[in-house]
Amino acid sequence: MTPAFTIGRHRVHRIEEWQGRFAPPAALFVGYEEAAFAREKDAFTPDYVRDGMIYGFLQSWLIEANGLRILFDTGAGNDKERPGIGVFSHLKTDFLARLEAAGFTRSSIDIVVCSHLHIDHVGWNTLLTQDGAWAPTFPNARYIFPGIDRDAWDPAGDRYATMRGAGVNAGVFEDSVAPILSLGRAELAGDGHEVAPGMTLRAAPGHTPGQMLLDVVDGADRALFTGDIIHHPMQIIRPDWNSVYCEDADQARETRRKVLYDALATRARIVPAHFGGVHTAFVERGDEGLRPVFV
Ligand SMILES: [Zn+2]
Repeated sequence: MTPAFTIGRHRVHRIEEWQGRFAPPAALFVGYEEAAFAREKDAFTPDYVRDGMIYGFLQSWLIEANGLRILFDTGAGNDKERPGIGVFSHLKTDFLARLEAAGFTRSSIDIVVCSHLHIDHVGWNTLLTQDGAWAPTFPNARYIFPGIDRDAWDPAGDRYATMRGAGVNAGVFEDSVAPILSLGRAELAGDGHEVAPGMTLRAAPGHTPGQMLLDVVDGADRALFTGDIIHHPMQIIRPDWNSVYCEDADQARETRRKVLYDALATRARIVPAHFGGVHTAFVERGDEGLRPVFV
C-alpha cells in the first residue's frame, strides 16, 4: 500500500481510528482569542473546522524501517468504559481491519510506542478477550511507555491525585497500561531512548509530565512524531494556546515553541496525532511568528 509519506528510506502509514466534530474552539483551547481564530477559519474549513467545531482525528502512525514495524500511539481502543470522555466510550471501530488493509496484521507489529498515557493514545494497547480480560492487542510487540507518565497516571501512585486529567483519564491505566506492565511487556523510557537506529524519543513535557516525541532521521529527512504537543494547526500560528488537557501550562507552551522552531530550523515534518487534511505539516516563518504548510 502507498505510504502516507516517507522519511528517507522509511515508509510511514496512517491508520485512522476515528474522525469527527470534537468541541467548539473556545472549549478546547486555553488562551483562545476569537478574532485570531476567525482570521484562519475559512482556510481551516473543512479539514480542521466544521460547523464552528474543531474537527479532529484519532490516528496511529506505522513506521516501516529496516525491517521493523513500529506503531506510534494507539488511539482510544474498542469496548472501553470511558466515563471521562463519552465519545470514546464503548467504541466499535474497524481500526484493526484498517491496519490489516494497510498490510499489517496484529502479530506483525514489532514495537508499540505511546507518546503519553492519555485516553486517546493507549487504547489499542489491549483488547477485550472472550473471558472479559484485557490482553495485548499486538502479541509479539515490545511496548515502550514514558516512565514518568507510568508513575504519574498510576492511580495507586502518589502523584495521581494531583493530575488535572485524572477524571478524563479514568479507567485508562487499568485497562490499557497495567495489563501490559503486569505481563512484563513494557519498557519504560526516558529522554534519549533509542527505539531503533535513527529513532530517538525526546522529552516533550507539559501536556503530560512524561510526554515524549519520536524523532526520526534518515538521510536528509526528519520527522517529529509529536503526540499532543499540538492538537490543531492553530497552535502553530499561536503556540501560546494550550489545550484544556495540558497538565503544566507554562511547560506545555515552552515545549511547543521549542519543537516548532526546531522543525522550522531543520525542515522537519510535524506528525501529530489529531490533524486532519493531509494529517501532517511543515512549519514556515510568517509575517508574525510561524505558519503551517500542508504538503
Ligand atoms: Zn493527550
